[in-house]
Amino acid sequence: MRRSLDALVTHVATALMGADAASAREISEQVLGDVAGYFAVDASFLRRNDHAIRATRLVAEWPVRSADEAPDPLKLVHFADADPVFAAMEDFSEPTFIRPGPETSEYQRHIRVSRSVTATSVAAVPLRSGDVTTGALGFVKFGDRSWGELEVSALQAIASLFAQLHARIEAEERLRHVADHDELTGLYNRRALFREIDRRLSSDRDECIPILFLDLDRFKSINDYLGHAVGDEFLRVFAERLREQATAGDLVARLGGDEFVILPGRPMTTSGAYAEATRIRRAVREYVSVGGEQVIRTVSMGVALAAPGTATTTSLMRRADTAARTAKQAGGDSVTVLSAEMSAEADFRSDVEMHLPAAIAHDELLLHYQPEADLRTGRILAVEALVRWQHPGRGLLPPGEFVGIAESMNLAGALGDWVLHRACRDFSGWRAAGAPADVVLRVNVSPAQLVSTRIVGTVEAVLTEYSLPGAALCLEITEHVVVRDLDSIRYTLRSLQALGVHLAIDDFGTGASVLSHLKHLPVDVLKIDQGFVRNLGRNAADLAIVRAIISLAAGFGHEIVAEGVETSIAATMLLELGCHRAQGFLLYPPVPEDEMRALLVGGGDRQGDEPELPMERFRA
Ligand code: C2E
Ligand code: CA
Ligand code: CA
Repeated sequence: MRRSLDALVTHVATALMGADAASAREISEQVLGDVAGYFAVDASFLRRNDHAIRATRLVAEWPVRSADEAPDPLKLVHFADADPVFAAMEDFSEPTFIRPGPETSEYQRHIRVSRSVTATSVAAVPLRSGDVTTGALGFVKFGDRSWGELEVSALQAIASLFAQLHARIEAEERLRHVADHDELTGLYNRRALFREIDRRLSSDRDECIPILFLDLDRFKSINDYLGHAVGDEFLRVFAERLREQATAGDLVARLGGDEFVILPGRPMTTSGAYAEATRIRRAVREYVSVGGEQVIRTVSMGVALAAPGTATTTSLMRRADTAARTAKQAGGDSVTVLSAEMSAEADFRSDVEMHLPAAIAHDELLLHYQPEADLRTGRILAVEALVRWQHPGRGLLPPGEFVGIAESMNLAGALGDWVLHRACRDFSGWRAAGAPADVVLRVNVSPAQLVSTRIVGTVEAVLTEYSLPGAALCLEITEHVVVRDLDSIRYTLRSLQALGVHLAIDDFGTGASVLSHLKHLPVDVLKIDQGFVRNLGRNAADLAIVRAIISLAAGFGHEIVAEGVETSIAATMLLELGCHRAQGFLLYPPVPEDEMRALLVGGGDRQGDEPELPMERFRA
């Protein structure tokens, strides 16, 4: 049964309502086919006006052009050199009808030639948005066709539905544009750039992705001397120049300030990327006239490359940034490709960043333990857990190589939890096997673990899980953290102390200003920094500092531990100063779990009341 005109319009409305930017073309083609079928015409088309370039562009057509047909010469038609019918599409507001006769339209000629028909009639209906003609909807009949009044109003209704769809898609595109572009220059923004690098780095192609990082030399002086309006204008012109220099397919982005990035669309070798950067560096170094001044700025460029799967977006960007900074430090107006040394360091960091989360999850970490002993008796008083990473490719890594990176990646919590669990598990094992009950377990915590109170729950749960009294555990916090974050961590420290857990200030003496806060802090132990202890007996200043720290600790009732005791002279001095708790290579180095267990449990001959081996070592 034949639909009524109303039903046809309703059908079109429903179909177009479901369209978005991605599906618009396909749905439009379908609708064009349905409408053409209804009116028994041979072809139909939908065109959109691009007023910015004064042209009309084909958006959809029916029948759909197959891939092996010649490219459509009428895909984009500029009004200025169009035939009268196309020219009229720029701003026509009423439907136009062409009947067979002398060819008045390029379209008629095109149809005649391409479809081998002699006579055509065309109905073109404007798409309007307010007073603007945004496009045209057209129907072509091979031969003659006239349109009834009701048919024409149906066509107009359908055209207005298409106009609405256009407006909707345009709004969508504008929104997307705003989200992905830099407001000042119209270039892509950081977000869009990072997304594209993410995509390229996760491809499975074996190719090198280059990043060209540009940093304007002495841009600040333009802002300072000529004002921000001139600075902005300069950035706009500079961005335009960059865009001109970019090759099709390149992504040009402004990161912010005077930093820009070009992500070339094609893979490159290192030397190819260097050559490209050099070309751009030369091309952008030209006078710009802004605010009545002729201004010239050179650029420092950094180049970094990575193959998919070998770097993260952040690490690749950081390498390019580092390279640009090196170019700048060398005087600017130059290109630096990351040197082997610089990239080895950056590679190490990205390697750590990429593998650390899995290393924590898969137990690639391990703990060594270093005893703390009584210098008078040699008795082990405490044990400090020190984390290491058995890296599959790089061997045993010390904490200095990865703890900082873990913190910068928000992994401090995961790392800290792992250490707490493992240390308490080992420790409760030793206790069960006969280790003295008064030995304390010391665990280092990162500042990031203390700014939230999450750690309180973790510690409580771990103590319960391994049936440990709170007093058996001491958490160590480095002094500069205590100073910097005092207010935000005070509450956490108090809650930990409420569990009976002890707190130590590590590396004491390096953060100095904590002295004044000391009496307000819930702290039990001070660990004198290795730097002061190592040269005791050789350095009078260190001796004075250590003496001051010891008397201060006594004043507050804190326990004091000397770290980094390497020589017997240092040990002797400490004893004379009244500090008998010590940790250091002279006594014990950090050892694996089984050795630590043997020291605490094994034989009993190492762990008695008598002065022991380590003491004898430095008494001799
Ligand atoms: P720290 O807490 O001050 O730990 C003492 C460091 O000094 C250890 O280095 C230890 O091996 C070393 N050491 C011990 N005795 C001597 C000595 O007589 N002479 C010298 N020169 N060094 C000695 P390590 O294991 O490389 O740890 C370095 C730092 O990493 C630690 O310093 C601590 O701040 C941090 N760290 C270790 N484990 C963890 C952990 O599980 N979590 C967190 N957040 N940090 C940790
Ligand atoms: Ca420590
Ligand atoms: Ca320390």
